[in-house]
Amino acid sequence: MGCDHEPELDENGKLPVPPEVQEAIRTLIRWSGDDPQREGLIDTPSRVARAWKEYCQGYGEDPAYHLSRQFEEVGGYDELVLLKDIPFQSHCEHHMAPITGKAAIAYMPKDRVVGISKLARVLHAFARRLQIQERLTAEVAQCIWDNLHPHGVAVVIEAQHGCMTGRGVRTPGVGMVTSRLMGCFLDDNRSRKEVLSLMGY
Ligand SMILES: [Zn+2]
Repeated sequence: MGCDHEPELDENGKLPVPPEVQEAIRTLIRWSGDDPQREGLIDTPSRVARAWKEYCQGYGEDPAYHLSRQFEEVGGYDELVLLKDIPFQSHCEHHMAPITGKAAIAYMPKDRVVGISKLARVLHAFARRLQIQERLTAEVAQCIWDNLHPHGVAVVIEAQHGCMTGRGVRTPGVGMVTSRLMGCFLDDNRSRKEVLSLMGY
């Protein structure tokens, strides 16, 4: 399974938004203190709705699909593979506020590898859902572990949370770091130090 079928588009080439979805957003605008009928807000409900379909397009994706094309001929390469500073955006499931950050993903191959860009695709497939950073980190690591069967996987995510920077305690600039280490990166001190230092930690 890859991605879901493309939805039917309206005559303007846009995704149709059901009336009850638009109404829900008008209700939220009203609740926030503004008038959903004023000119600048007239088209906002359908824009917001379509934006949310994009933010959450990971629900229509099977992340493991991105790891299905594997190369078994690795020419004796048995050192770690690392993709770092991968920018991503997600949304927290508690406030539906943006989570923006970067990820570093590494694995120690056991006789098979995938195209390096696929690691970023796995990240985005999980990030484009309502998330908490801890689960996002764990899901990316587990998906690579289950599908590539490597000697080890390491995922470190550093992100800022809109629900912290824009509301509540309002602490802009504060980042949260989460990590998930599996296999040799968990069990072997030397491997762990190596991967974390290559990631810049
Ligand atoms: Zn939140």
